[in-house]
Amino acid sequence: MKRVAVLGATGSIGASTLDVIARHPDRFRASVLSAHRNVAALAELCAAHRPELAVIADPALEGELARRLAAAGVRCAVASGHAALTAAASGTLCDTVVAAIVGAAGLDSTLAAARAGKRLLLANKESIVLAGPLLLQALHEGGGELIPVDSEHNAIFQCLPGGRPDLRGSGVRRLILTASGGPFRGRTRAELAAVTPDQACRHPKWSMGRKISVDSATLMNKGLEVIEAHHLFGAPADTIEVAVHPQSLVHSLVEYVDGSVLAQLGNPDMRTAIAHALAWPERVESGVAPLTLATCGALEFEAPDLDTFRCLALAYQALRAGGDAPAILNAANEVAVEAFLAGALPFLAIAEVVEGVLAELPPQAVVDVESLVARDGEARAAARRQLRRAC
Ligand code: NDP
Repeated sequence: MKRVAVLGATGSIGASTLDVIARHPDRFRASVLSAHRNVAALAELCAAHRPELAVIADPALEGELARRLAAAGVRCAVASGHAALTAAASGTLCDTVVAAIVGAAGLDSTLAAARAGKRLLLANKESIVLAGPLLLQALHEGGGELIPVDSEHNAIFQCLPGGRPDLRGSGVRRLILTASGGPFRGRTRAELAAVTPDQACRHPKWSMGRKISVDSATLMNKGLEVIEAHHLFGAPADTIEVAVHPQSLVHSLVEYVDGSVLAQLGNPDMRTAIAHALAWPERVESGVAPLTLATCGALEFEAPDLDTFRCLALAYQALRAGGDAPAILNAANEVAVEAFLAGALPFLAIAEVVEGVLAELPPQAVVDVESLVARDGEARAAARRQLRRAC
């Protein structure tokens, strides 16, 4: 029986994870659930899944969570605040941690789980983009393992020999990350000038939280994934390619030096990657409909449009610049996306803000978490200055 902490339980990945867990009560138990402020949804999930601990990140809501749980007859411990999240990720109530908090807010709990030697199911790509080398070091020190949940990285993991998460000496020539192209594939810059947050969040293939949906629309999501692949698999930037594949059935590919190209296919549903990561090296049923090749039609692939979707080019630029440039990119993007979702920034200005912040803050070496968090703060402040100029 694996005891699973689902951090970010009220989100899209959280829902998919709990769905898979509920299908296998003999194998998995959701022992810890967390949310940020959505106290009603967290209480409902606790009533359905009966964890041992519920953590609400906003301390002001702890009392309300306790009241709701008592009213529903749910007996579980309640905690709140950032430190409680970190303690839950590293504590004895779980052996597996699903890192599904959105944004840099997930960094501390992800690092804590890695240091504590948990099986880390990483959805929170921002934490590895922000602190890749430190997260890998924490994993090494903790002696646990990381199984990627991001569907592309999970696909690559599945296409590597024995799921080996390190490319060196494995005969791999290239990693090819597929991208759906998002809701604005094929549009010109002029056509994107006035798009709204709701249009950006209407993804043609995946149902996801609003931040990652906007990242998919700008192709920043793919950029973050390129950086994630670099850290997870030790792949240099030049060996990571992106192919736009609008059907979203091929989740990524690995090309070997002998010319073989291995791909992982499946319907676009995150429960496949989550079930794989939860059960690895075994396989369990995920609830995802089988892929019917005879009816899935043609599979198309095309090069990404880097002029229109500048964020992907900026992510490669940050990866090549090295040091903390990816952390700067990530922080600037989070601020810009939040402003766009609030209706305070045009869609195309997201890339402008990120580019401006990267130009303003030349990369520095990554030393430790404290200095990285300070740089993250500097980048957010610089992004807010850029926002004032852009609005
Ligand atoms: P959602 O926005 O749907 O959910 C985010 C979760 O994080 C919620 O539980 C939210 O709580 C919690 N949260 C938000 N801010 C904080 C905070 N400051 N402190 C603690 N908890 C917080 O996001 P997704 O599920 O879509 O994405 C989660 C992560 O997984 C992201 O990093 C994303 O890039 C990645 N990912 C997502 C995929 C998807 O298909 N959705 C695919 C691959 C990766 P509350 O509800 O209370 O706000």
